[in-house]
Amino acid sequence: MSEQPKRTELAELGEFGLIDRISDRFKNNNASTLKGIGDDAAIVKTGDQVMLVSTDMLMEGIHFDLSYMPLQHLGYKAVAVNVSDIAAMNGIPTQITVNIGLSNRFSLEAIDALYEGIRMACENYKVDLVGGDTTSSASGLVISVTAIGEADPEKVSLRSGAKKGDIVCTTGDLAGAYIGLQVLEREKQVFKANPGMQPNLGPYDYIVKRQLKPEARMDIIHELRELNIVPTSMIDISDGLASELFHLCKQSGLGAKIYEDKLPIDTLTYNTAVEFQLDPITCALNGGEDYELLFTIGQEDFEKLKNHMDIHFIGYMTDAKEGRHLITKNSNAVELKAQGWKHF
Ligand code: ADP
Ligand code: MG
Repeated sequence: MSEQPKRTELAELGEFGLIDRISDRFKNNNASTLKGIGDDAAIVKTGDQVMLVSTDMLMEGIHFDLSYMPLQHLGYKAVAVNVSDIAAMNGIPTQITVNIGLSNRFSLEAIDALYEGIRMACENYKVDLVGGDTTSSASGLVISVTAIGEADPEKVSLRSGAKKGDIVCTTGDLAGAYIGLQVLEREKQVFKANPGMQPNLGPYDYIVKRQLKPEARMDIIHELRELNIVPTSMIDISDGLASELFHLCKQSGLGAKIYEDKLPIDTLTYNTAVEFQLDPITCALNGGEDYELLFTIGQEDFEKLKNHMDIHFIGYMTDAKEGRHLITKNSNAVELKAQGWKHF
């Protein structure tokens, strides 16, 4: 009897395990590759500056649902999430390329709307669309954007640079995008059952926007630059706070303590989570797609930031052996678990 070839399910590795496996098999051939796989963007040496490169793909049915995602917002979001990865390196985005996979389901007007969103994002983030590729797709709309950016090599913020005692900061507010998605899904089900009914999104405007039209926090990057602050480590929150904090801890060889009562959650997000019988704190830890920045600063920089309206100090970095904990309102230390998103 012939032996069956071995088959390993991708779910056994998960997304991060798969990426590690790919990265282990490659070595860099060029001294100009300063940082390859493993951060928010790659770093390539180009004279005095470094070039940052990041790419992200959005697939219909996995990352977006066209029944509630207007194409214009999709175009905007596809650019914003890539700009966010350049921001997370403390860089300034400069160019993008856009690849799209299309079927004849899409009209010219639909593609115009998609590119109107891309154009608005280019305008807003001051980036230039410099190329791309167009192909047909048998499995729905695919949009993949690559962003190029620049940074001063001394001022790049890696995931690996945090030091013990550094303060953990997060921008904006958390879980809005995730709860916004719950609202959109609910209204979709209502509409399916009752096609005559109009969706009731008005009261949820802020969180629905958080899901459909996220912004990369370039404003924060410019402000930090003006204040002469270089985050010791940084990542953008695409998969959820806990998962991103794990990346900073793992790559910096540290642990962390964060405080429940410091997590920034908007009132509408909080109340809507409760309406869905979800725990707002769990949503803040594990909900994805907020595209806020999570970063660490040295204690000496705290004075300069302490009155900032949109930067929150949620905890501090510890020795690795102290683990990663959430300190609850009753002062209990709960071990953090990073769920992230499981696509497989
Ligand atoms: P982010 O959430 O910041 O976009 P990811 O978790 O998608 O980051 O990726 C982490 C790192 O792995 C990045 O350096 C990315 O370029 C790299 N990466 C992801 N998928 C692949 C792949 N299929 N081949 C090579 N590198 C990959
Ligand atoms: Mg990222």
